Amino acid sequence: MTSDEINNTNKEIDISDFLQLEGIGPAANKEIKKGGYVSILQLAAAMQEDVENSCDISADKAKKYIKAAQEWLDQSGVMNSRVTSGLDDLERREQMQKITTGSSNLDTLLKGGIETQAITEFYGSFGSGKTQLCNMIAINAQLPPEKGGISAKGVIYIDTEGTFRPERIKNICIELGLDYREILSNITRIRTGTLMEFIYRIKTLSNEIERRNAKVIIIDSIISRSRQEKIGRGTLADRQQVLGQLLHRIMRCAEIYNAAVILANQVQANPDTYGDPTKPAGGNVLGHASTYRLSLRRSGKKTVVTMVDSPMGKYDSVDIEITERGIEDFVENRKSAKAKKQGKENKETETSESQEQPQEDSESEHDLVIA
Ligand code: ADP
Ligand code: MG
Repeated sequence: MTSDEINNTNKEIDISDFLQLEGIGPAANKEIKKGGYVSILQLAAAMQEDVENSCDISADKAKKYIKAAQEWLDQSGVMNSRVTSGLDDLERREQMQKITTGSSNLDTLLKGGIETQAITEFYGSFGSGKTQLCNMIAINAQLPPEKGGISAKGVIYIDTEGTFRPERIKNICIELGLDYREILSNITRIRTGTLMEFIYRIKTLSNEIERRNAKVIIIDSIISRSRQEKIGRGTLADRQQVLGQLLHRIMRCAEIYNAAVILANQVQANPDTYGDPTKPAGGNVLGHASTYRLSLRRSGKKTVVTMVDSPMGKYDSVDIEITERGIEDFVENRKSAKAKKQGKENKETETSESQEQPQEDSESEHDLVIA
């Protein structure tokens, strides 16, 4: 079922009415609404402990409400049945929507672009182009399908590092002849300064997706360098468990809302002798959660993108370039638009003046507290 079909079905069936659910009477309806849930989809996607806490009800009740919502979804046809034939699965995959990255090389590596219902992770060191890719996808997702987008009217951009720059998006839009006001107004930037804030935002992600009718969720980055808080009792296993729960929620949102999830991720910066500095942060938990995992490595003007993990199992590399137009295929001796304009008047070649260097809010020490 495509997102359009889901949206169309949603118009016919009122998914905001909990009273349709088996065993939900007016009292239960009130409890669920009091907990901040606004639709059956959202309740079906919620974690039991969240429903328990936000509705202030017992674990059994929470379990019962979620189950009722999930069964309703199965039967109502709003969502695909969970029991599918291989042919159904193939048809579903063929209907999957894809977003262009701006580089046809990278799109080819991704077999057509960034997929909905999947998590695509880009990891690389500081300055390798993760944020630039996130910006580009936030723009391209809004394009119509014939231009490589999915006509997304909602993009959620969780900015854990404070590196979101609307001016950069504006400039790319101008270069591409897009209405930057419209593009920027469809992007909801959520700044999370602390780890607790981040956890809260992920727990309430479905709320935000519903509110914005979001089709794309960008998290830059999943493991922030500047988070200063420690969680749990601080053992690696505890931290991995928290990360695992967050990723589980994110994946459920991707599936239920037919949304594309893009994660930027750091490479391990632990100075300890055992840490491999080219390894992505987040350990095994993140590795298993990502559907596609790609590494970014800057090499002069180009950025080498390598598919490190994919269900297709083919691990090629391609070259892309960060330009005034966002992300493009790497071309030797590319002249920037500015340089081209100036070229006639003065024969000087382009300088790196036009390049924005990444800036970060506050202290960004290599403090990988989750991984
Ligand atoms: P990361 O998020 O991986 O730390 P970024 O996505 O912030 O890295 O990439 C920063 C790099 O992008 C800069 O070093 C610069 O080379 C390049 N860049 C940023 N803006 C432009 C631009 N307008 N034109 C060309 N390159 C740019
Ligand atoms: Mg960045």
